Amino acid sequence: MENQNNRRRPSRGGKSRPGHAYPAPNEGRRAPARDPLPTGPFADMGIDPRINANIAAMGLNKPTPIQDQAIPAVVGGRDVLGLAQTGTGKTAAFGLPMLTRLIKFGKKPDPKTCRALILAPTRELATQIATNIDAYAEGTPIRSFRVVGGASINVQTERMSRGVDVLIATPGRLMDLIERRAIDLSATTYLVLDEADQMLDIGFIHTLRKIARMLPKERQTLMFSATMPKLMSELSDTYLTDPVKVAVNPPGKAADKIDQGVHFVSQGDKATLLAEYLAKHPGELSMVFGRTKHGCEKLSKLLDKWGFSVAAIHGNKSQGQRERALQAFRKGDTQVLVATDVAARGLDIPEVAHVYNYDLPNVAENYVHRIGRTARAGRDGRAVAFCAPAELGELRAIERAMKSSITVIGGEVPAATAPAGRGGAPRGRGKPMDGGGNKRPARRPSRQPRSRQAKA
Ligand code: AMP
Repeated sequence: MENQNNRRRPSRGGKSRPGHAYPAPNEGRRAPARDPLPTGPFADMGIDPRINANIAAMGLNKPTPIQDQAIPAVVGGRDVLGLAQTGTGKTAAFGLPMLTRLIKFGKKPDPKTCRALILAPTRELATQIATNIDAYAEGTPIRSFRVVGGASINVQTERMSRGVDVLIATPGRLMDLIERRAIDLSATTYLVLDEADQMLDIGFIHTLRKIARMLPKERQTLMFSATMPKLMSELSDTYLTDPVKVAVNPPGKAADKIDQGVHFVSQGDKATLLAEYLAKHPGELSMVFGRTKHGCEKLSKLLDKWGFSVAAIHGNKSQGQRERALQAFRKGDTQVLVATDVAARGLDIPEVAHVYNYDLPNVAENYVHRIGRTARAGRDGRAVAFCAPAELGELRAIERAMKSSITVIGGEVPAATAPAGRGGAPRGRGKPMDGGGNKRPARRPSRQPRSRQAKA
């Protein structure tokens, strides 16, 4: 990826010329980063040897189920409709064969154009995809670029004047650039819509329809979604031609490995309860989901005051702040990330051990996405929902969406609403804390290094 900082790339030994063919694998000054692996399951599926060597070095040796199903279809040029949650390996499922096809195509893009367009709902997800695509394509001639809001549009316009192989974008910023005539989609023959259902939730449907009209009819389209609401099926009819349908994990089913519980607590006691939970797991990464930007900011400041190493991500933060916060969290410099649903999907940070639903989401499916930030890459994870009396409706909606009830691990189930069969009796430890809101936790967490982002 070439980001806003224009990361330096090894020289290709010449300026970009429209229509100029890429050098063959070992031609010119650049040598492949590693010796290509000639064999292996990905090579057998037709993945380019240099990409194969890169992913082998990253520990991707055996295809995941979604990769098993999707890669041969993409290599064969088919459209794909993938029903898959994040964490299933879907970035590689679309990225590896798409990059392989781009390498085979062997032509540099014309100015302002991109050969492949990957659309993602959030800046964070776009960044994560771009990072993965870069890692897969290391040592190949393929260049990617990410365009998202909150970053300099002039830098993006300048970079796009040279054209790019793979453009990773959020729909809003892409439209801005198209309207400025900085991007032309007439040569875009690969389209990936990632987390398509979330793009609809965010209200990108009109933007997506506009973008669709600008793309060539002759193209390969891959659409991935965690759920398949009615609007999604309509969208897939518009976008895809005779797609191969692949599905892993039924939608709405939380990863089996996540240890889930609900703790009943008054709204005013949630912060103290959270501090109690966090203090029990020092040094482990936790994500805390709140409903509003203001609420997340307030909570993050309070946790910071109480000595936790915390950062916040929400729509009121600048792009730079969001990126720095996420980077510090990824590296483990910050242990607690408080976020709105902007971080509910797609983020892949294997070290996240705990997810706290500080406020229950009002869209039930978002619960599944939020808790999916833990128990990744074969690890265990724990998700605790804090349910205030006023949120019982949301809790029941979540349980209906998941077709299972969540174990009560603390607090008292309000008697009138206790579901049949559970007897209303709380299991597990702890009572909700009574008394005034946001009081200092009884057990203070050990002082942990603060992150600069916490105060950003
Ligand atoms: P994704 O669903 O694309 O967000 O991927 C989730 C995680 O799975 C990422 O950390 C990937 O690096 C990892 N991953 C993807 N494919 C494989 C594979 N075949 N073997 C092991 N890990 C993988």
